[in-house]
Amino acid sequence: MKRTVVVICDGLRADMIRPEWTPNLCRIEKDARVFQDHNSVFPSTTRTTAASIATGCLPKHHGLEGNCVALDDGSGLQAYSVGPPEFRDKLRAVTGRTLRRPTLSERLKDHGGGVVYSNVSAGAAYFHDPDGFGTIYHRLGSYGPGVTPITDDRHQVTSHDSAGDAALCERFCDEALGAQTHAYSLLWICDPDHTQHEVALGSPRHIQSIMDADACAGRVYGRVKELNAAGEDILLLVGSDHGHETVGGVVDLNALLVEAGLKENTTSTDVVVASNGLSANIYLSDAARDRLPRIIPFLRELDDVDQVFTGTNLARLGHRTDTALAIAVTTKGTNEANEFGIPGIRTAVQDPLHTDTRIGCGQHGGLGPNEQNPFLMACGGGFLPGSTDSKKSSAIDLAPTILRHLDQGWDDMDGSPLDQS
Ligand SMILES: [Zn+2]
Repeated sequence: MKRTVVVICDGLRADMIRPEWTPNLCRIEKDARVFQDHNSVFPSTTRTTAASIATGCLPKHHGLEGNCVALDDGSGLQAYSVGPPEFRDKLRAVTGRTLRRPTLSERLKDHGGGVVYSNVSAGAAYFHDPDGFGTIYHRLGSYGPGVTPITDDRHQVTSHDSAGDAALCERFCDEALGAQTHAYSLLWICDPDHTQHEVALGSPRHIQSIMDADACAGRVYGRVKELNAAGEDILLLVGSDHGHETVGGVVDLNALLVEAGLKENTTSTDVVVASNGLSANIYLSDAARDRLPRIIPFLRELDDVDQVFTGTNLARLGHRTDTALAIAVTTKGTNEANEFGIPGIRTAVQDPLHTDTRIGCGQHGGLGPNEQNPFLMACGGGFLPGSTDSKKSSAIDLAPTILRHLDQGWDDMDGSPLDQS
């Protein structure tokens, strides 16, 4: 039977795949085709990238614009975190739908089905299959087809750390790579990302979290190798969703816009800043739309702002331009190394909805070279072992690659199947 197995080590930078830190990934590399210029989407956040991996589409088509998005539920625009379990229902209630393109689990519902084991935020887990065509296991709530809550022994609470990742990986190997065969099985572990938000990149705790993630990838690889040797035809994709850079400082765009008279007050609904860590999306109400010609030059003059995208430039980043989302900004950074020799230091955007931005620790969300430096390797499924591909690839290319292996079409996707040799 043809199957596809995906392992995502959240936040692991391609340049941190080193023999001394990731012996298993280095072993997989020798047996895989390695995509040397693999990229995230914009913003380079876990939840947006998860939706892009699930749909093969950019945010302009799947509709999940960031880790934080602004919605108007009738009382004006307000920023919401996509992370909590209840956000999926909020989005459906406000917009009438969840994602705007079918997910892998939907496309495969009559062709072997999909199952997701995720140890990141609930939002990042649920947006693989928000309308319940397959099964999702997550510590804050597991769901079967029809978004039916799983409340029996199959729902297990894993800790949100490396130990939880290891426990989930063990289950994945026993179940998804055991008797419960789905056409598409995904394991998404929280480290090293989870640890990177808490410690300095390159510090001993960080390196340990990389080694723990590497052990999970090695375990899945070993199991897939056994199954393929026994006659299965499994395509294994191992990768990450984005990289990280060190937070060098924090800019409060909300406060600066208020100070400049371009936003009524810090909680007003006219101009809403949705922080995505090292970038932000800015939403304008209809009434505030005429402020755009004043807001753009104001943002461009700010010391901590790097690029300002609007109109066709925002479209080029992969976003719609006919909604309240009017501007995206990235922050300034350098490729200087931190105290542990890890390059990439950048300013973060103040985020009242998340607490994972700490000066001196890791963060992501923008276009920095080390944020846009996830890794990807494809093993089995006709990919030439021990080969490299220097062409640009992206998170949106995973879904069409998976569907090609399963002899399914990949219509209406922004991505393309990866070259096998
Ligand atoms: Zn992530």
